[in-house]
Amino acid sequence: MVRQVDIVVVGLGVGGEEVAGKLAEAGLSVVGIEHNLVGGECPYWGCVPSKMMIRAGNALTEARRVEQLAGQAQVEPDWAPVAKRIREEATDTWDDTVAVERFTGKGGQFVRGYGTLVGPGRVEVGGEVYEARRGIVLGTGTSAVIPPIEGLSGTPYWTNREAIEVEELPTSLAVLGGGAIGLELAQVFARFGVRVTVIEALDRILALEEPESSELATKALGRDGVEFRTGARAERIGYDGGEFTVHVESGAPVVAEKLLVAIGRRAQLGELGLESVGLDSAAEQIEVDERMRAGAAIWAVGDVTGHGAFTHMAMYQAGIAVRDILGQEGPPADYRAVPRVTFTDPEIGGVGLTEAQARERGIPVRTGLAQVPSSARGWIHKVGNDGFVKLVADAERGVLVGATSAGPVGGEVLAPLTLAVKAEVPVETLRHMIYAYPTFHRAIEDSLRDLR
Ligand SMILES: Cc1cc2nc3c(=O)[nH]c(=O)nc-3n(C[C@H](O)[C@H](O)[C@H](O)COP(=O)(O)OP(=O)(O)OC[C@H]3O[C@@H](n4cnc5c(N)ncnc54)[C@H](O)[C@@H]3O)c2cc1C
Repeated sequence: MVRQVDIVVVGLGVGGEEVAGKLAEAGLSVVGIEHNLVGGECPYWGCVPSKMMIRAGNALTEARRVEQLAGQAQVEPDWAPVAKRIREEATDTWDDTVAVERFTGKGGQFVRGYGTLVGPGRVEVGGEVYEARRGIVLGTGTSAVIPPIEGLSGTPYWTNREAIEVEELPTSLAVLGGGAIGLELAQVFARFGVRVTVIEALDRILALEEPESSELATKALGRDGVEFRTGARAERIGYDGGEFTVHVESGAPVVAEKLLVAIGRRAQLGELGLESVGLDSAAEQIEVDERMRAGAAIWAVGDVTGHGAFTHMAMYQAGIAVRDILGQEGPPADYRAVPRVTFTDPEIGGVGLTEAQARERGIPVRTGLAQVPSSARGWIHKVGNDGFVKLVADAERGVLVGATSAGPVGGEVLAPLTLAVKAEVPVETLRHMIYAYPTFHRAIEDSLRDLR
C-alpha cells in the first residue's frame, strides 16, 4: 500500500529535522525518516559533545595559567566528569526520545529506518512506500571518510564517534588528519594527559585556512604537548592487538594505543536510490540550486550538498528550503560569507576567502594583519593571548572578501567580520567605526590600519 503525504524528509539530522519540524508546524503532513538518531551528528557525536570536551580542556588550561597571573592552583585532570556530562547532559546516553517527541509534537509522523528513493516522489522505508504530493527533502549528511590505507580495515580505529563516546582515555593517540575535527580532539586529549601525534599528509595543518592560522595552531597545540608530522602520508597501518603503528611516507612510524581517523567527511549516496529520480549516486554530493532544489520536487540540505559541513550551513539551507516549499519569498542562497571556526585554544575563525583563494580568483588583494598580543586587551590578557586578525580586501571595490580572527574568543570576534563581508561594508566605513576599548575585537581596527 502506498501512503500519501505532503512531504517526506529523509534523514533527520540538523537540516532534515529543521525542515521537517517547520513544515509540520506549517500544517503540511510530513513524514520524517531517520535510521539512527534524530538530531544527527551534531548533538550526539559532533559539535555539542566536542565543545563540552573543549570547555573542560580549556578549564584545565586556564587553571594551569593561574600561576602566571594569580598565585597557585593544582590541577588534576579527570575524564570521568567529562564523559558523564556527554552521556547525561548532551546525549541522554545516545537516546533521541526527546528529539522524536519534539518532532511528533509539531505534528510530524516519525518513521525509524533507512529511507530509499524508489521513483519520483516515492520513498520506501521498512517495506512501506510513502508518496509525497509536494516533494522529498534529503538531509542525509556525511560520515567520516575511511581511507583505503593498507592494514586499516578491520582494526579498532576510532572515528569521531568513538572519540566522543570514550569513557577512559588511552595513554597515547595518533590522529590521522590535521583539520578542524582532528585538531580540536587532539588538543583536548593532550590537555588531559594523552600523548598525541597528529599526522597530516599536506605540508601544513589547517591547510584550507590562512598559513598564519596553521602556524598559530602548530605553536599552540605544541605547547599542549601535541606532536606534528606534516607532509607525512600514512602508507600502512599495523595493529598488534594493543598498539597501532602508522607507517608514514617519510620518517619513523608513529606508535600509539589508539588511532583516530579524521581526514574528512563524505556523503554516502550509493544506497539512497538517487537514480530512480534521475540523480547521480556516484557523485560526491547532491547538487542544489540557490533554493536548495536538486530536481523536480526534490530538495537537499546540509552536509550532503557540499557547501560546507557546518551546523549553521544546514540550518541556513533548511530555512531556504522551507520557504521555497511553502512558496514564501526570501533571498536565495549566498555563500560569500560562510563563517567557520576551529574551536581550538586559541579559536581560529575564518569567513569568506583566504588571501590565496582571493588571488586565485584574480581579485586585486590587499591584506592587513594585527597581532592580538600587541593589542591592549591582548597585553592585559597575558598568558593565552595568542592570536591575530587578518583581513583580505578587494582593493578595487574597497570591501573585505575574507577575514580570519584567531585568539581567545576568535569565533566571537568573527561576527562583525562576517557582517562586513556579507553586507560589503566599505573599508572606509569600517575604518571610521568606534571599537569598544579594550576588547579583543579592537584588533580589527589595528588590522584595518595595516591594510595596504
Ligand atoms: C566531531 C565533530 C565536530 C563538529 N563540530 C561542529 C561545530 O562546532 N560547528 C559546526 O557548525 N559544525 C560542526 N560539525 C559538523 C556538523 O555536525 C554537521 O555539519 C551537521 O551535523 C550537518 O547536519 P546534516 O543535517 O547535514 O547531517 P547529519 O547531522 O549528519 O544528519 C544526517 C542524518 O541523516 C540520517 N540518514 C542518512 N541517510 C539516511 C537514510 N537513507 N534514511 C534515513 N536516515 C538517513 C543519518 O543517520 C543522520 O542522522 C562537527 C562534526 C563533527 C563530526
